[in-house]
Order: sequence, then C-alpha cells, then structure tokens
Amino acid sequence: MPNILFLAEDPLWDEYRDPLNKAFQAAGFDGDLRTDHSPLAVDYIVYGPKRGQGDDFRPYINVKAVMSLWAGVETIVDNPTLTKPLIRMVDDGLTNGMVEWVTGHTLRHHLGMDTHIHQQDGEWRNTTYPPLASQRPVTILGIGALGAACGQALHALGFPVTGWSRGAKHIPNIRCMHGDDGLQAALKDAQIVILLLPQTPETENILTAKTLSLLANGAFVINPGRGPLIDDEALLLALKTGQVAHATLDVFRTEPLPQDHPFWSHPQITVTPHIASTTRPDTAAGVITANIKRGESGLPFANVVDRGAGY
Ligand code: NDP
Repeated sequence: MPNILFLAEDPLWDEYRDPLNKAFQAAGFDGDLRTDHSPLAVDYIVYGPKRGQGDDFRPYINVKAVMSLWAGVETIVDNPTLTKPLIRMVDDGLTNGMVEWVTGHTLRHHLGMDTHIHQQDGEWRNTTYPPLASQRPVTILGIGALGAACGQALHALGFPVTGWSRGAKHIPNIRCMHGDDGLQAALKDAQIVILLLPQTPETENILTAKTLSLLANGAFVINPGRGPLIDDEALLLALKTGQVAHATLDVFRTEPLPQDHPFWSHPQITVTPHIASTTRPDTAAGVITANIKRGESGLPFANVVDRGAGY
C-alpha cells in the first residue's frame, strides 16, 4: 500500500482529505493518506507550498513523485532539494473555472458592458449596438491546458482566436503561432490579449512597451497568468496613451496587492484578487489518484514539469 503524504497549508487538508480518500476508494486503490508519515516511508507527496516557505525534500528519499495541487509551479521548480519528478495540476474543475472567468471578462470588454452598468441615469441611449465577436480578434499567450480551453470557448462564441506557445502546435479552431516571430504576428492588431503563460525567465515581461504597441489601438489586456508577465510601467503608460483601453488583472508581482498600490484606484484597471480559478478538490482528487496508479503500474506519470523549461 503506497504511503501518500499531504504536505500543504493546514486548511487544505480539510478540503482534500475526504475527496482524495473517496477517489482512492472509487479507483479500487489502497493508498494510506496522512499528514504525518515518517519521511523514509513516503511514496508520493501531494504538495502545496506554504506561503513564504521553501520545503526541504531531502528526507523523502523513497518518494516517486511530488504532485503539486496547483498549475503554476514557479515557487517549486527551482527548489534544489527536489530531485524527484514534479507533477503540475491539470484539473477539469480548474480549467472550467478559468474558461468561465476568461469568457466573462472578455465579454465584458467586448460588449462594453460597463457603459450601461454605470449609466443608469434615465437617458435612452440606443444608437450603438453591441458588436459581433467575429469582428474582435483575440490573442491568447500560452495555449496549454488552460489557454487552449479558453480558446475553444471563445471560438465557440465567434471570436477569431490566435494562440501563442513555445513549441509549434496545431489546435483546431485556433490560429497557432510560436517563437519570437510568432509573438509579433500573434499580437499584431489583436483587440483583446489574454495571458495564460507560466512564470519563467523567458516569459517575464512578455508585455512591454514594444509588444503592447503591436496591439490594436484601444485593446484590452486580461491577465490571469502571473503578474511578472507584464511590465507594469509599460502597461500604465499604454493605458495613459489609450493604446490599451482597460486591463483586467488577477495576478500581480506582489500578492496580496498592497492596499496603496495605484492599480486599485486606476479607472482603467480592474483588480481581481487571484481568484480567476482554483483547483477543485473533487475533480483534482481523481487526477492525483490516476497519476499515482500510473506510477504504481510502472507507466510514465502525466503532466510532469520540465524543470529546464520551468513549467
Ligand atoms: P500549461 O503548461 O499547460 O501551458 C503553458 C503554455 O505556455 C503552453 O502553451 C506553453 O507552450 C506556453 N509557454 C511557456 N513558456 C513559453 C515561452 N517561453 N514562449 C511561448 N510560450 C510559452 O499551463 P496551464 O495552461 O495549466 O497554466 C498556465 C498558467 O496559468 C499557470 O502556469 C499559472 O501561472 C496560471 N494559473 C493562474 C490561475 C489563476 O487563478 N489566476 C489558476 C491556474 C493557473 P508549449 O505549449 O509549447 O509548452
């Protein structure tokens, strides 16, 4: 019976204990899930980094894989004590949540919903109709698990969708670009840009004055990826000149975003507090179980992080 250590902040144990045990049972899998296995006995670690703390994985010498509860692994990937496979979270619940958040914020900007929400003043303004999605090119930087799912949902609504990735990809309904040249072409004349890249040394400051200038004038930026993907000063300038009409930001260089940060009061910025989506215990438990079963059957793990690439 494999020993599974749950190593994460305390409240998560209450959220995940029952779904994980249920998923083990449903899969006919006999795993001993605890928060206090002795390090030498641990076969798998279900892991969520504790805020501001790096964990020391050296005592877990028999561990076969460390399974992150989160999709973003930038705080773990460089941990020198972690020499075993690191698996990132790919979870339908997480994906569906992100699709809903991205679609909602895209439609808000596309339809100019704020105009009517904030102008309930008794005046009947009926000369302007909502535009059609087919006239609004959307570019998604990062077309992995989350970006590709968002792309399909936006395509289904009629948006022409371009996606950008590191390697070449062929995804139905998405015009796929990759590499440096691909970035220019992907951003050129985009009216909405959505960031779903991981945070790595290569993706930091992907949106700068130069890349923002490629967008259509008055474009919208939606960032549920990671804060450092955007050069904040360049974004503020682009908002001032009107190159960018509005930015919806879910993630920031410093989180929680400090109370006195200028983003909070900027009229062209919407701040959401890193809630775009999250791993859902009921669906994630099945994903973790399936991967442990793969390991126990001698199959390669799914969704292993490429430590060199950083995601
Ligand atoms: P994936 O690893 O599945 O996808 C990442 C995508 O980014 C891939 O298409 C990858 O390209 C691309 N990419 C990575 N590096 C580069 C690069 N240097 N140049 C071009 N493209 C690059 O990740 P997910 O879709 O699961 O998650 C994406 C990110 O979303 C997470 O890393 C996390 O930061 C964020 N996130 C935010 C949440 C929130 O609530 N705000 C919740 C969950 C995740 P390729 O396909 O070629 O590998």
